Amino acid sequence: MSEGKSQPQKRFPLTLDSITGAADRKKTTAMPQMKNPQTATQNVVRHTTPTPPLANSIRPAADRTANSPLVSDAVRKAMVQRLAQQGIRDTAVLAAMEAVPRHYFLEPGLASQAYIDASLPIGYHQTISQPYIVARMIEVMRGGMSGKLSRVLEIGTGCGYQAAVIAQLAEEVYSIERIRPMHELARTNLRPLRIPNLRLHYGDGMLGLPQVGSFDGIILAAAGLDVPQALLDQMSVGGRLIAPVGQRNQVLKLICRTGRNEWMAETLEPCHFVPLKPGTFG
Ligand code: SAH
Repeated sequence: MSEGKSQPQKRFPLTLDSITGAADRKKTTAMPQMKNPQTATQNVVRHTTPTPPLANSIRPAADRTANSPLVSDAVRKAMVQRLAQQGIRDTAVLAAMEAVPRHYFLEPGLASQAYIDASLPIGYHQTISQPYIVARMIEVMRGGMSGKLSRVLEIGTGCGYQAAVIAQLAEEVYSIERIRPMHELARTNLRPLRIPNLRLHYGDGMLGLPQVGSFDGIILAAAGLDVPQALLDQMSVGGRLIAPVGQRNQVLKLICRTGRNEWMAETLEPCHFVPLKPGTFG
């Protein structure tokens, strides 16, 4: 995941220099930490920084924010340093967070806020999770392993950011989204990154993907009152599932499948996610 110098690369991970130009690099100051998706709209209001007008609205996602110093690789490195200070220890997770350009996944007006530790709106009343919770959940799902997970399922693709991060850390990643236009948006966002080991599905993630087989990692990006049984059944023995659970007072839950008919659950810290909903939309 090293950052190259100024050679444009065709394959992911792209260097930020290939997007912004090294001359755009500037130092940034730490932004306040905001953890609640319900504050996503306020986050925007509080931190809106004017971005240069787009020369051409149909430019590829890779070029959308080419003129903003707030999306430089230095800014993303600073985000990763903050994650380490906040307690993320898994160096592979930190490297993946450094490799994936979060600003690709936001609309141009919000891209300049991509590297503050906040959830932000992505349309359809949904939010991109704050960087800390993305890193934390993936770290817990990996459970201190040194290699890659073999097959991971994500429920709630949203804009596709977290799926792109997970794809750095797993052989195969499948991600399901129930809102069709959101699924299409994720496709559009991810296309320029060319991530060959990531498959997007439109459907109800509560049903999982039984046709694919079992997963050694499952991660939910939306909170249900419980973890759907179908997902527990699709875990491989030894697999780990991480999910927000609850309505108003949500907690992160880690579930490990310890045997054919045996699962162990552990409650971690409080969290705030959009709701897990059944069925599809759009
Ligand atoms: N991982 C995302 C976060 C998206 S927010 C990102 O990086 O942007 C959570 C997403 O879960 C929303 O897009 C919502 O539509 C989706 N969702 C909620 N219930 C779902 C379900 N049953 N199946 C699939 N997606 C679901």
